[in-house]
Amino acid sequence: MQTHVLGFPRMGAARELKFALERHWRGELSASDLAAVGRDLMVRHWNVQRDAGLTYVTVGDFSFYDHVLDTAVMFGLVPGRFAALDRPLFPDVLFAMARGDADRNLPAMDMTKWFDTNYHYIVPEIAPGMTPRLGRATVVDDARLAVSLGHRPKAALVGPLTFLSLCREEEGADRFELLPGIMATYRELVQQLSPLCPVIQIDEPILCTDMERQAKAYFRPACEMLRAAAEETRLVLATYFGGLGSNLDLALSSGFDILHLDATRAGHELSEVARRLPPAMSLSLGLVSGRNIWKTDLARAVETARGMADLLGPDRVMVGSSCSLLHCPVDLERETALDPVVRRTMAFAVQKCREAAVIAEAAEGWDHAAILSRTAADLAAGRDNPQARDPAVRRRLEGVVPTMLSRKSPFAERKKAQQERLGLPLLPTTTIGSFPQTAAIRAARLALRRGEMDQSAYRAAMQAAIADAVSRQEALSLDVLVHGEPERNDMVEYFGQMLAGFCFTENGWVQSYGSRCVKPPVIFGDVSRPHPMTVDWIGHAQSLTEKPVKGMLTGPVTILNWSFVREDIPRSEVCRQIALAVRDEVLDLERAGVPIIQIDEAAFREGLPLGRADQEAYLTWAVECFRLAASGVSDATQIHTHMCYSEFGTIIRWIAAMDADVISIECSRSRMELLSVFGEFEYPNDIGPGVYDIHSPRVPGVEEMAGLLRKAMAVIPADRLWVNPDCGLKTRDWPETMASLKNMVVAAKALRAEIAAGQ
Ligand code: GLN
Ligand code: ZN
Repeated sequence: MQTHVLGFPRMGAARELKFALERHWRGELSASDLAAVGRDLMVRHWNVQRDAGLTYVTVGDFSFYDHVLDTAVMFGLVPGRFAALDRPLFPDVLFAMARGDADRNLPAMDMTKWFDTNYHYIVPEIAPGMTPRLGRATVVDDARLAVSLGHRPKAALVGPLTFLSLCREEEGADRFELLPGIMATYRELVQQLSPLCPVIQIDEPILCTDMERQAKAYFRPACEMLRAAAEETRLVLATYFGGLGSNLDLALSSGFDILHLDATRAGHELSEVARRLPPAMSLSLGLVSGRNIWKTDLARAVETARGMADLLGPDRVMVGSSCSLLHCPVDLERETALDPVVRRTMAFAVQKCREAAVIAEAAEGWDHAAILSRTAADLAAGRDNPQARDPAVRRRLEGVVPTMLSRKSPFAERKKAQQERLGLPLLPTTTIGSFPQTAAIRAARLALRRGEMDQSAYRAAMQAAIADAVSRQEALSLDVLVHGEPERNDMVEYFGQMLAGFCFTENGWVQSYGSRCVKPPVIFGDVSRPHPMTVDWIGHAQSLTEKPVKGMLTGPVTILNWSFVREDIPRSEVCRQIALAVRDEVLDLERAGVPIIQIDEAAFREGLPLGRADQEAYLTWAVECFRLAASGVSDATQIHTHMCYSEFGTIIRWIAAMDADVISIECSRSRMELLSVFGEFEYPNDIGPGVYDIHSPRVPGVEEMAGLLRKAMAVIPADRLWVNPDCGLKTRDWPETMASLKNMVVAAKALRAEIAAGQ
């Protein structure tokens, strides 16, 4: 049985890539030194895969920013505004596409979540007249390097249908018109790769979604063309993040040599697939989860692999990771401070490579009895961990009654009560919560962690940061202020650290976008809130100003989706536990006189299962959890929520069902396109479409933001519109933040005057 992983994390165990990228962007590291860092990481990661005993090492999974962006660049699909830059494609134009170009006032390309993960890819733009042509294909260079180092490389490529489905069409463009051109470039690429790689993996996770009709129609011809171009090389059709459902026939008829299934999520399809697998096709079993940090139940996985081998013959079975290991941290060996019982149950990317090899070897009869029984004992210890079960939490959950899930009055009445209390102008201005995390703030946090600063000095430093943020907001004359979140390193980690049932890794970083990584908390036990978590900070901010302060909390669904979650009870139950803890915090804030509370649900959509069949169940409990967290307050307390980089199309009615008084959403990168969904649906409550792209250092002008607001007013009545940035400002610095917010407030005031003049 051959073995592989679908991809390996790029950042490096010590986030070497992140630090190199940021030095490069600051002008401290040359392009060629940056390239060398990338090469070292690739080589190291190939060695890990070889040392684990995997049959192939994967190439083409590495990227300096994002692999979808790389694919667009490789195919020559560079939007005109960037193509006009008279600079080298790598890395200058590539990074300008990803991050915008402040000097030339070029906005970055749109960015959105990769399927149901927290990884963000750059959305390729298809404009009329674009012609794909194969440019510099780094994957070919990488494969050549791997071969020269004695590795057996498997190249991983984003598949044509997934690629095209993820592109955005500019006015007048039709993505599928590009298909012949795209396919010609794929053919050329595959021809260049096939002498180097015995296997090429074509990633088509789009097959796990309800695909567009056109994509379905083009799938088979595309596969045939690739199959012909690959000659001797074997092709893997890689599907993951879900089952194939009604696309199974399509996948089986691809003519590819190997079909990869995500056995962690599509286990129920395995037997049907095995039964219907064409004789010339092999099956790659994704038995090792690329989406969590838990050990694989090796005994069960071996049994599955052996069962498939009995049916198909061992040479028609491959064992691998469910998806790329991009979504899990690199190496458990670096974790020295974890609770030993919890640590025993964990495996990171390096360990997962070995798991895949062990499963295949054991299924083929190697004697791995010792490893298997040790793993079984580890997993049993985790299940029996008394720290993981809190009877009080279970009892409280049983006591949740329907009245706890609804606000006291309908929105219209609440809006009146809130308006009386708050007295806000038309088009109220606010921000999404965080302000720049200055060097002083970060230094204080570090000093506290290292024991070089005591609690009271730390508290004073945070209060000073809060006071500074409040006075800056007053100077800007924003209408609704925030405390600025200086005390938070991360919007989920901060809460996890104060909730029971969580633990933390030291180096469990996962790439979110570009150089940005997150370190998801680990939920291993029942969740509860021993003490208030934010009241002190937010109450302090409110005490400093007459203006209303908006309290900031992270919502239950986001805490869940951005954590690594235990698998011994349903996710919905873990989420309800978190919702009750957040509800307590909301009520404490209300009691402390905070009139507005924002419950961020930035990750609400990314938990959505890819197949329509499973979506309703998720949405039902996710909406319920938000409402459980939010609904305890009186009518006059205003509840906000915030979501960024989400597509709302099919779930808009569920977003409405959350019944937040105000929702702020990402909009400026997509130039208010998102908003049309809210207009068509006649979204009933207030909306703040982001008018300022905070992921770029560029300062947006007054006219630009006023223009976006006019677009918004064409869809949403002005008396239901708010004015705010796309997201929190913690990654920005103060000068650009002040300049941008100043323009934003001027834009809002200009529109208020326009409206007044028009009446
Ligand atoms: N309140 C958070 C902040 O401003 C929201 C961040 C997010 O949505 N990702 O940082
Ligand atoms: Zn956001």
